[in-house]
Amino acid sequence: CGIVGYNGLLDAKEILLKGLEKLEYRGYDSAGIGLCTEDGVAVFKEKGRIADLRSIVDEEAAATMGIGHTRWATHGVPNQLNAHPHQSASGRFTLVHNGVLENYHHLQDEYLSGVQLKSDTDTEVLVQLVEKFVEDGMATEEAFCHTLTLVHGSYALALLDAEECDTIYVAKNKSPLLVGVGEGFNVVASDAMAMLQVTDQFIELHDEEVVIVRKDSIVIKKLDGTVVERAPYTAELDM
Ligand code: GLU
Repeated sequence: CGIVGYNGLLDAKEILLKGLEKLEYRGYDSAGIGLCTEDGVAVFKEKGRIADLRSIVDEEAAATMGIGHTRWATHGVPNQLNAHPHQSASGRFTLVHNGVLENYHHLQDEYLSGVQLKSDTDTEVLVQLVEKFVEDGMATEEAFCHTLTLVHGSYALALLDAEECDTIYVAKNKSPLLVGVGEGFNVVASDAMAMLQVTDQFIELHDEEVVIVRKDSIVIKKLDGTVVERAPYTAELDM
């Protein structure tokens, strides 16, 4: 299973699909992408192979930013509904997740009694929580960090906010995730191999760090908001 993200100038969907193909060898049961288009975030997801996903992606969907996911189901059977990305009730927030959330039932009972969940995954609770906290008055970054302080478990995450189509919010805890640095673009990948197609400069992330990825900047923070400086390394892998 894996995660990819691209924020830049080129056609995001082709870069995301190619990236997911590079992660296929890890095993997965479904795959999906979310693209930041002029009409909000468009989600395409399917049970089965990346080739199946490719066949349902709208070729006209123009986006220079997006996220992608291959799923290895832990909560909820492998089907189209449970495939990632997951979206919040209003459709504003779109999220992909690798890992397992231990306290999602508790979080649902505590905060989301008024929200009808659309899937059987542990993951969906995260994206609904972000929306809830934004509706309560928090900014997106604050709502994302606040959600993560409540969560127990492992995660690599990428989040899109349709009202802020220049940013990918990223976080990790006990699941692999890297940020890749380009000129005029930046990327996200659970494995450098997925994005060697566009860059070999990667920044390693530590547990409980959040990253704000824009096409010309990468800001890493701890959950308490402290900014972390970390230089990229050169990934030397065969493609
Ligand atoms: N626990 C999540 C799910 O079942 C993510 C699984 C994964 O790591 O792909 O959807």
